[in-house]
Amino acid sequence: MWQTGLTCMPDHPLAEIAEKPDEKQSANGIYRVLYDGQCEICQACVSWLKALDREKRTVCLAISADVLASVDSRLRMEDCLRQLHVVTPEGEIHVGWDAVANLARLFRSTWLIGTLGIRVPFRNVGRLLYGFVARNRYSLSKCRGGACSVAKPNEVRRQARLGAFWSCYTLGFFIRLPLVMWSGITSAAQRMRIFVRTYHYRLDLLDGKLTILFLNGMLPNTVPLLFGELFTTVIYDGVAVDPGSPKMRSSLSRHLRRLKPKITKIVATHAHEEHVGNLNWLSEVSGAPVYVTELTARFLTPFKKLPWVRAMIIGQPPDLKQPYQLLGERVDTQSGQLRVIPTPGHCDDHIGLYDPKEKLLLAGDAFMGSYFATPNPDVDSRKWIESLERLMELDIEILVEGHGHIHTLRADISDFPGVVVRENPKVALSQKLDYLRWLREQIAAGFQEQLPVRVIEASCFPWGNRTSWESCATDECIRMLSLGHFSRTELVRSFVRTNSEALPTVYEVRLSGRE
Ligand SMILES: [Zn+2]
Repeated sequence: MWQTGLTCMPDHPLAEIAEKPDEKQSANGIYRVLYDGQCEICQACVSWLKALDREKRTVCLAISADVLASVDSRLRMEDCLRQLHVVTPEGEIHVGWDAVANLARLFRSTWLIGTLGIRVPFRNVGRLLYGFVARNRYSLSKCRGGACSVAKPNEVRRQARLGAFWSCYTLGFFIRLPLVMWSGITSAAQRMRIFVRTYHYRLDLLDGKLTILFLNGMLPNTVPLLFGELFTTVIYDGVAVDPGSPKMRSSLSRHLRRLKPKITKIVATHAHEEHVGNLNWLSEVSGAPVYVTELTARFLTPFKKLPWVRAMIIGQPPDLKQPYQLLGERVDTQSGQLRVIPTPGHCDDHIGLYDPKEKLLLAGDAFMGSYFATPNPDVDSRKWIESLERLMELDIEILVEGHGHIHTLRADISDFPGVVVRENPKVALSQKLDYLRWLREQIAAGFQEQLPVRVIEASCFPWGNRTSWESCATDECIRMLSLGHFSRTELVRSFVRTNSEALPTVYEVRLSGRE
């Protein structure tokens, strides 16, 4: 667990604010906005423009030689880097403050500003202010945030001072702060809706072959409410997967009393506390044997003492008791077989279960949404990339996550908003893969430039990526509540870990010392 549950987000995780130029757009009454993709201030303004522009009357294009040539041959790179350019549907070019004012006139909430802004004396004041910001923002905008796709990125990097980087990054954040807060509020409301809908709920799918039991508990409930991760036990063709933690036991017991399922085997996908706390208990009440991998068994005997926050909220699992069986390459189900697929990354002992007949993958925590930001300390992102590459070789039509999300386009899985995500699982997996590879490059480049860990961390969350600021409130909330156990900093560490040991804390201190 412990990645932010942004699984339901329809956009590509790397959806930058920039769009691609399109020939047809000029004919459709679209305003084309050309902005400096390197500049945090420009990017922040574009975020606002996107929030205002509900009817999609504008398209925002980060400047590059190709983009300029395809939009209008009159546009010159030097001019466009200096100030904002907007090409109207009629082919007029507005520049600087006039461009801002003309854009403002497009939307009801800013119409007045725009209308006054093109009249004397407001126009003169506007131009003066715009000129000041435009002249000075370039000295601030030394972006290392992966947005450096325009004009001399190497020179920008060379000249950049960390002070400039941070002031730029911070300014970009504050310009967006109202948007960050609004996004925090709307996602909290959405989490609440899904929580209510799934409270002690049971979802029967594929004619009862696949059952998702949603687990609740007084303190565990804080997790779905704050972070959007739901707790579940999956029963697939007689195999019960990940039976929850002791603090969810009464919820599981209630499900079993009502459903009276035939359980032939109990399997754990990995040794995290919310997946394994009821293994022995369920085995006792159902009579079914427990199956775990050798590594999982080692993690569970004895189960290490959890940090107190996790022990308090999820519950400290008991040690795994004999008898239990070791997982081989396959698990027999009532009507077929599941292949056991090693998927280390989320943690070393992680496995997935795959039914080739149904083209269904029980992914456990090996997916957790295309975008994530706050991994647990035992995540190894390089191994995760390899695991995802392995999963990409499978033919998957239904992907069932360990925290209550199902990704599928199949019509025989009925809709359930907030749980069933209508997307091709392979596309979702490849998006996650792209995202992790991008992070890997970003982090490697940061270390090569000998940047402090905090700067590398910030550069992995450029405000130009919508998810960076949309999930910012939730991510920081997770960092605070987990006392730093799960954080954006851990994401950087998850790429620099050596084979089995976690990056020691002193490493970060040493690197930060350079700043
Ligand atoms: Zn986990």
